[in-house]
Amino acid sequence: MEMIGHGGKEIIERVMAKDAALKRVAEMKAAKVKTLDVRLQLATEILDIAYGFFSPLEGFMTKADVEAVCNNMTLADGKTVWSIPIVYDISSADLEKSGIKQYDEVLLTYTGNPFAIFDITDIFTLDTKEVAMKVYGTTEEKHPGVKRTYQYQDKFLGGKITLLNPPKINEPFTKFWLTPKQMRERFKEKGWEMIINHQTRNVPHTGHEWLMKGAYLGAYGSMMVDKPRGGVLVNAMIGSKRPGDYIDEAIILCQEAQGKHGYFRDDIFLTTCTLWDMRYAGPKEAIFHACLRTNLGCTHHMFGRDHAGVGTYYDPYDAHRIFERLPKGSLNITPIFNLDWWFCPVCDEVTYMGLCGHKDKKASFSGTLIRSIIQDGVKPPRRIFRPEVFDMIMECAEKYGFGNAFVTEDYLKNRQPVFTIEPLK
Ligand SMILES: [Zn+2]
Repeated sequence: MEMIGHGGKEIIERVMAKDAALKRVAEMKAAKVKTLDVRLQLATEILDIAYGFFSPLEGFMTKADVEAVCNNMTLADGKTVWSIPIVYDISSADLEKSGIKQYDEVLLTYTGNPFAIFDITDIFTLDTKEVAMKVYGTTEEKHPGVKRTYQYQDKFLGGKITLLNPPKINEPFTKFWLTPKQMRERFKEKGWEMIINHQTRNVPHTGHEWLMKGAYLGAYGSMMVDKPRGGVLVNAMIGSKRPGDYIDEAIILCQEAQGKHGYFRDDIFLTTCTLWDMRYAGPKEAIFHACLRTNLGCTHHMFGRDHAGVGTYYDPYDAHRIFERLPKGSLNITPIFNLDWWFCPVCDEVTYMGLCGHKDKKASFSGTLIRSIIQDGVKPPRRIFRPEVFDMIMECAEKYGFGNAFVTEDYLKNRQPVFTIEPLK
């Protein structure tokens, strides 16, 4: 089947078959090649690269790529749209100790086990302040994406990655993690021709539910009844967490619950996850999400109010406006721009900025309101949370969150990892 990803190129998996990988690791060990053990942040992106989530990237960016991303919002080819640097950082001291030079082939390990081959073609430095300004529009360290940028070590390695050892995705994420190729196969099984992606890092209240329903209605509004339809893909971002975020387990299981309990017909709804540390880059991250979901095989992508934003760094609709700046045809996915959904006590329903005439009476689904409802643990009206979704939040808090649906220090320290890399044998 067709596996064309972002940039119009075939999705490339850079994953070595097991027998070949075993042989290769034995050879590399015999030849005493240099090795580096990677941290979770890098391991996550190695998986994304190897399975084609970041297609057409086949490895970590070179300096030319990072500069093009910062200056032109493209890769170094000058035409493939890309908005967030994907980099491998290392300290000068570690680089020196490892003896790694340009054009070395390096064995990467994760938690001590063979993981990937890294063909290093570029060793470089970056002005992280400049990168922060160009990607995030600010140099304030309070911004979590900027903070991550400033935490990079002082040297960067660019080059292709080949995965040697596939991850074991742990429960409850196992069935939700599908590679771009698996995702497309699933769409084919379901007979979906149009796939509307909903990006999320939340458990769904009815505002989110209606956001998705609104996008679905919009996308199919002009389609005749007999045409093959498609569905809504909820693709949750699972990755590094900050205290106060929803725990990953609650996000994925509560999203699934909407389909399980019929708020969406089972044949038009699918919940999956992608491993990605949110950068909260607002408009730039919206573009990145569009590229990523193109690789997953989606045809449409929803962008909500303050998409991937944080604090007051971006205007709530900057992440919509940025699409106007892209050259025509540079993305193979159609954006659906959602305005604000709220609960209106006069209409007595969940409604929408573009419809409801009682703006002054609206009750917004503010983070603070939703958080206090969840922390109270008392079942709210079903107009705010579907009862089955709310029950699942409470269940996840007990089962995975050490009593809390939100990330705590306890959770950060003691949670089960989302994936593990086991010994290769
Ligand atoms: Zn109203």
